Amino acid sequence: KTSRLVPMKTIEGFDFSFQPSLDRSRIIALAQLDFIERGEVVHLLGPPGTGKSHLATALGVEAVRAGKRVYRASLAEVIDMLVRAERDGRLPERLRFFNRNSLLIIDEIGYLPVTPGGANLFFQLVNSRYEKGAMILTSNRGFAEWGDVFGDPVVATALLDRLLHHAIVIQIEGASYRLRAHTDLIPEH
Ligand code: ADP
Repeated sequence: KTSRLVPMKTIEGFDFSFQPSLDRSRIIALAQLDFIERGEVVHLLGPPGTGKSHLATALGVEAVRAGKRVYRASLAEVIDMLVRAERDGRLPERLRFFNRNSLLIIDEIGYLPVTPGGANLFFQLVNSRYEKGAMILTSNRGFAEWGDVFGDPVVATALLDRLLHHAIVIQIEGASYRLRAHTDLIPEH
């Protein structure tokens, strides 16, 4: 059996010098976790490999250290769970499961297309959580592209209405950390 030593994603383990567009003090402020008490939504936006998942997980680690209940999944996983729950007549139970967590981290918005039923179910989750529970969302797509991401501009607008009301938006512009050994491939780095 091979050992699985997954390096923990922490704030301490994040190299802020690699990502100069990112204001370190904003991340340190988020790590104080007041956004969880206030039920706010944190959006981490930027191209692939810029550390959005790392930072989302690191803030989740801080919340767990502070005794908070945290759940993390990709948008595709969340929607898959909602679709199954609805099919089994257990949607209210599944929504309660998500909402028992004081922080819900939903990663990778924008990579995979969302089915119409999936977008509708995700809206139900967001609506049930609105002004009650904090979230961290990561996406490689700007808000203007959410109509495409969710396959429906009306649902996207309703989602954004709720997800931008009490929101903190952090935009990272920079090079992929995954490609850092190949700086010749990265323009202007
Ligand atoms: P994204 O979610 O933006 O696509 P990730 O957070 O998954 O990017 O980052 C890709 C990999 O690079 C991960 O292993 C992550 O831990 C690492 N990484 C990204 N940015 C940094 C950084 N500034 N310092 C240290 N590790 C980083």
